[in-house]
Amino acid sequence: MIILLIITSFWFMEFVAWSNHKYVMHGFLWSLHKDHHLADIASKPVLQKNDFFFLIYATPAIILIIWGLSAANPYMIAIGAGISLYGMTYFIFHDVVYHQRLPFFSRPSNAYVKAIIKAHQAHHKPKNIKDFNNFGLLIFHRRYFN
Ligand SMILES: [Zn+2]
Ligand SMILES: [Zn+2]
Repeated sequence: MIILLIITSFWFMEFVAWSNHKYVMHGFLWSLHKDHHLADIASKPVLQKNDFFFLIYATPAIILIIWGLSAANPYMIAIGAGISLYGMTYFIFHDVVYHQRLPFFSRPSNAYVKAIIKAHQAHHKPKNIKDFNNFGLLIFHRRYFN
């Protein structure tokens, strides 16, 4: 049950990340996300305003884990752990593997990782400003496996 809750929270976060990226970050909080897209063409700042979203996601996870620990509630801890695991996975695939923000890591040649790269590349190189797609990270169209 606990494991299932961790896995469910993890994948639910892919949905949260997708919808937040599509409707909030490319919507009314574009001002915070913009520099992540500008980093493609301009000089790459060490920290981007976009990194602020990590805090937004980490806060409920930390609250759930601390609250769960003090209330001895394993379900809250499990949900907090699922959110945290997703955050770490997102950081590894998006910031380390794709954007190479830690330059000493080279890109793995795994087929799934290659597909993540292609799918996220499509997000960063849209045909025009209205053509942004692939707002999720881990789930994408299977055409990116080719
Ligand atoms: Zn974006
Ligand atoms: Zn990106």
